[in-house]
Amino acid sequence: MVETDLLKTAEKILEFGPICDSCLGRQFAMLSTGLTNRERGRALRTVIRMSHDDRTLPEKGCWVCLGLFERDKLASWAEKVEDALHGIECRTFLIGTQVSGLLSENEEILWGECGIQYAEPLKSELNREIGKLVSERKGIEVEFTRPDVLIILDLARDRVNLSINARFIFGRYLKLIRGIPQTRWPCSRCRGKGCQACNFTGKLYKESVEELIGEVALPLFKGEDYRLHGAGREDIDARMLGRGRPFILEIKSPKAREVDLKVLEDGVDHTKVSLTGLRYTDGSRVEVLKSASPTKRYRAKIRVGDLDKIRLESGLNELSGAIIDQKTPQRVLHRRVDKTRRRKVIEAHLLGIEDGYAIIEILSEAGLYIKELVSGDKGRSSPSLSSIMEEDLSVEELDVIDVGDIEGIEI
Ligand SMILES: [Zn+2]
Ligand SMILES: [Zn+2]
Repeated sequence: MVETDLLKTAEKILEFGPICDSCLGRQFAMLSTGLTNRERGRALRTVIRMSHDDRTLPEKGCWVCLGLFERDKLASWAEKVEDALHGIECRTFLIGTQVSGLLSENEEILWGECGIQYAEPLKSELNREIGKLVSERKGIEVEFTRPDVLIILDLARDRVNLSINARFIFGRYLKLIRGIPQTRWPCSRCRGKGCQACNFTGKLYKESVEELIGEVALPLFKGEDYRLHGAGREDIDARMLGRGRPFILEIKSPKAREVDLKVLEDGVDHTKVSLTGLRYTDGSRVEVLKSASPTKRYRAKIRVGDLDKIRLESGLNELSGAIIDQKTPQRVLHRRVDKTRRRKVIEAHLLGIEDGYAIIEILSEAGLYIKELVSGDKGRSSPSLSSIMEEDLSVEELDVIDVGDIEGIEI
């Protein structure tokens, strides 16, 4: 834009109606950097005034922003934000503006009538100016990608809305007893509302690993809710031992963010669960965790009667390295889609036989169902230990004793 065009446009804007320096300068924001819109507007107004000494240019009032960029108006919005942030721990924030219909119309009228092409939208200037004030007052930083708190200035309703971003904690859990699911399990009859069947608890299981950890974490973080994301899950009747299973705990809307994780680790019921390696992480790791496929090591107790030890050892030997075609187990068919997976048994061996029970260990790729690997699930898993041995074998007790490292989080 040549300078005469620029001045012509600025004159046109000034003739159109009373406008403040910020709103004037903002219409040319893309043409220069290093100045605030207010400074740019003042400069333009000065130049035009010098060449039109016969005309007074109105400075009071602004039909575009209706006075929003007056210093005390900006300060009062910053104060509103400060009030809204009271009692909320945050280091970073981002401001967004919901512009009222009237203001966005004014802006569009101005753009249309004066042929403006280099403007910055009103709301981005407001976000920036309030952001500067809040940053100074509270000593917190603007952060664009992952702010602790998102602050929305609702201009039409003259109020501030907050959205506190979740806090994510990575760690590994051990499940020391059988009979608890990994995550909350709502009653299927009432879907969590509470009914006779679930004794008005809304739950099929009284507790879960998720609740055993989340109920301790929630008051520490002064959050609204929580969710446990696991790297796979063990059966309800299986224990999770060894180093534990990687998980990410998501705390929704936490008013406290910098909690000492040792307090969480110490606070859980150690007769049921135990936590290791807790550390803060960010939300993007949930997807990494969920899509990881770490190897798993299991220990299974199998009723074998008077089965010969040498025969069992040779059967397990045959199973080592075998590729298993496994259809979705019958016991989970009601909630999982029926498909065939192909998974490898990396290694299988016998630990010992006692009183008609064998203890075996199996290392497998992620996603292989171990109970069905042993039983054959009426031919749905093939080959199986039962088919290899030509016996009817089944798992009596199962423990997961290792889950491999999660790439992208732990290694
Ligand atoms: Zn204005
Ligand atoms: Zn119910």
